Amino acid sequence: MKYDDENIPFDKCVKVLGQNSSRFDIALLWDALECELWTMGVPIGDLNNTKSITVTNKKSHMKLQFIDAENLFGPMTLKACVKDYGDKTEHKDVFPYEIINSKNWNEVLMKTDPFEYEDFKSQLKGGYSITKDEYDQYLIDFKRFTNRLEYLKYYNINDTEIMVKSLMNLIDTFEQFNIDVLHYISIASCAYATKHYSTYFPSKFILESDKQTYYSDIDIKADYSNPNPNAKPFVLTAGYWKNKCYHYKQQDYKAGRETEKNVTADDYDYYKRLFETSVCSICKAKFTYDNPSSLDRQDNELPHTKDNCLPACVSCNIEHANRDPKIASLRIKMRLYAIKHNLTMTISDERIYKLLRECITSGLAAVFHRENIAGKTHINELTYDEYSNKSIPQFIFISQK
Ligand SMILES: [Zn+2]
Repeated sequence: MKYDDENIPFDKCVKVLGQNSSRFDIALLWDALECELWTMGVPIGDLNNTKSITVTNKKSHMKLQFIDAENLFGPMTLKACVKDYGDKTEHKDVFPYEIINSKNWNEVLMKTDPFEYEDFKSQLKGGYSITKDEYDQYLIDFKRFTNRLEYLKYYNINDTEIMVKSLMNLIDTFEQFNIDVLHYISIASCAYATKHYSTYFPSKFILESDKQTYYSDIDIKADYSNPNPNAKPFVLTAGYWKNKCYHYKQQDYKAGRETEKNVTADDYDYYKRLFETSVCSICKAKFTYDNPSSLDRQDNELPHTKDNCLPACVSCNIEHANRDPKIASLRIKMRLYAIKHNLTMTISDERIYKLLRECITSGLAAVFHRENIAGKTHINELTYDEYSNKSIPQFIFISQK
C-alpha cells in the first residue's frame, strides 16, 4: 500500500475475507489477536454470527478488518457461490474434513491412495457430503498428487482462489456503478447504494440518458399517464367482467356489505362502453392492456354498485383505498413517473413477481426482489421509548404486500 503523499494521514485498513468465517474463524481470532500488540474492536453482528470485526495494531495503528464473505454473496455455500458468481469453468474441490483429527492426521494424510467414497460420509450433513459424480471427479483430480497431504494443500489454495475470483467478479460488477463493494458490509447495503446512485446519477445506468437526477423535476400537475403510446386500448370481455363481478361480490360479502344491488354480469354492455369512452377518474389515464380498468368505490362504506363506483386504473384504485387523497395522488404521480423513466419500484402484482423471480439466481436482483408477504414477513422495527430515551427493536408483521 503506497500513496503519493504518505504525510497525509489516512486510515490503514486491510480487508481480510473468508467464506463463512463468522462461524469458525472469529473464535480463532480471539485466541490469536487478543494480546498486547493488537486491540480487538467491537464486532458488527452478534457473537454467533459476526459479520465483521476490526483489529488494530497498537504500534503501527494498522487495521485488519475481517469480513465474512457470505455477507457479500448472500447466504449460500461456496459451491453455490462459485456457480452463481464464478467463472463457469471453475468447480469446488472436495475433501472429507471429518475423517481427520489432531491425533490421526499424519497417518491419514500420508497415505498415497485416494479417499474411499465411504470416507465422505458426513455426520454433520447426515449422509454423503458429495455426489457419486463429484467423487469420480475427485479420483481424476487426485491422480496429479503423490499423497493425500499434497492434494489437501492444492485443495486449500483452490478453495481460496475460487472464492477470490467470485469476489472479484462481484467487485467488477459494482465497480461500473462506482460502488466499492468492500466499503459495504453486505450485498443488501451494496444494492441499496446502487438504488440511490441510480436515482442521482441516471446516465451511469441508462447510457443514452443525459439526465442528471430523477425526481427533482417531478411535477405534481404534469401528466405522466400512458407512457406507451402504442399500448392497445383495453376492451372488456364478458368473461373478464363476470370474474370481476364475482370478486367484487366476494370482497363486499367478506367486509359485511350488502351485495343485493351490486353490479352483475348483465351490466357487461354498459361497462364495456364506459371503459372504452372514459378515462381513469383519479389520474385521467386511458385504459389499455398495460393499464386495465377497475371499479373504484367512492364511499368506502358502500358496496360495488353502479351508483357508488367510478372507473379507475387498478393501481390507482389500490393507492386510493383508505388513504389521504393528497398522499394518494402524490404516490400515483410518483408511480407513473417511475414507470416513465424505468426507475426501481415495488412490485405488488404476485404474478409479475413470480415470473421475474424465476429468472433471478442471486446478487443484487435477489435483494431488490425480496418478497414480503402480509401476515408472514417479519420486519424489525425500532420504536422510540420516551421514558428510557431509547429506541427499542420490535418484531412486527407487515400489513401490506
Ligand atoms: Zn389511474
